[in-house]
Amino acid sequence: MTTAQQSLPMILDEVEVVRVERISPAFVRFELGGACLAEFGVDGPLYDQRIKLVFPHEDGPVPSFEGADDSWYGTWLARPVEERGHMRTYTVRDVLGEGVDTRLVVDIVVHPDDHGDLGPGCAWAARATVGDRLVLMAPRRGQFYGGIEFAPGAARRVLLVGDETAVPAVCAILAQLRPDAVGAAFLEVPTAADELTVQHPEGIEVVWLARDGEAHGVPLRRAVLDHLGVGTAVVEEPEEVDPDLWETPTYSSSGEDVEDAATVVGHDLDGIYAWIAGESGVVTGLRRVLVKDLGVDRRQVAFMGYWRRGVAMQS
Ligand SMILES: Cc1cc2nc3c(=O)[nH]c(=O)nc-3n(C[C@H](O)[C@H](O)[C@H](O)COP(=O)(O)OP(=O)(O)OC[C@H]3O[C@@H](n4cnc5c(N)ncnc54)[C@H](O)[C@@H]3O)c2cc1C
Repeated sequence: MTTAQQSLPMILDEVEVVRVERISPAFVRFELGGACLAEFGVDGPLYDQRIKLVFPHEDGPVPSFEGADDSWYGTWLARPVEERGHMRTYTVRDVLGEGVDTRLVVDIVVHPDDHGDLGPGCAWAARATVGDRLVLMAPRRGQFYGGIEFAPGAARRVLLVGDETAVPAVCAILAQLRPDAVGAAFLEVPTAADELTVQHPEGIEVVWLARDGEAHGVPLRRAVLDHLGVGTAVVEEPEEVDPDLWETPTYSSSGEDVEDAATVVGHDLDGIYAWIAGESGVVTGLRRVLVKDLGVDRRQVAFMGYWRRGVAMQS
């Protein structure tokens, strides 16, 4: 096990699969353990805390980060893929145990690609068994890491929207919200068998939407537009979709002026805070409705492209 990264502000170390369970047709739940997790933690709730997992390439070795320093990413990227493996982004669904027995729970979607090719993260999740090793990048207690976007501030109600890749984040947020929180969560999953049991405040309506063969995002758009009172107008997917769409009150992947945007107070939809994540084209369409058509204040929304149809995640 690599343990020489202690100078880095975050955990970048080997972990092991200590439990694996196919919790539904689309989700495989992993418990990842390792001595390095004794140092895992953030100040405050984890909410949608993102982490990186580095999967070995096919039958290749577990990528080594031995001796990693501040230039670790460039150094890692410069190595042949057979050696460096594949880095992908996931969410901390839950944390179990404590000290050296701390385990991170990560739910990974087993998805078909349009052409039948599974991405390396999905392929790993489909075949991994207890004892398999991989590398985790995650926050180290007491150090700044970032990666939590859910920030409702003083909003009076929340709107959480996601496809299956955002289900772990939405479920984690729901489980950590104040008991008096109010609002709604819309979750689109491939089939009704993927609708999970989730702990949530009584005042949050949780709506599962089974795609059941419809195009990705269609049930989600329909339900969210209806919820917002926009009727069932068809939201065309924009021609130009940024695969790395990331528009939050503090960061804009499109280069929009965040400062300016934050001073525009529009239609506040009754104090709503909207957190929307999933396939970039679907999220872009919803963003257009909320920000452009309904004029929702940019300080009240986070739109995140978690993946883009036909585009492998960069690593
Ligand atoms: C902040 C953040 C948090 C995330 N949290 C999670 C999480 O907790 N669990 C999780 O499963 N995913 C999560 N994702 C999404 C995940 O990182 C992507 O789905 C990623 O592309 C998976 O890598 P891969 O190697 O399987 O596929 P890639 O190699 O990236 O892509 C290969 C092909 O598969 C397609 N593809 C990728 N994802 C899907 C999908 N879900 N359905 C259909 N086709 C797909 C791509 O379009 C591409 O054509 C998160 C993403 C972000 C940015």
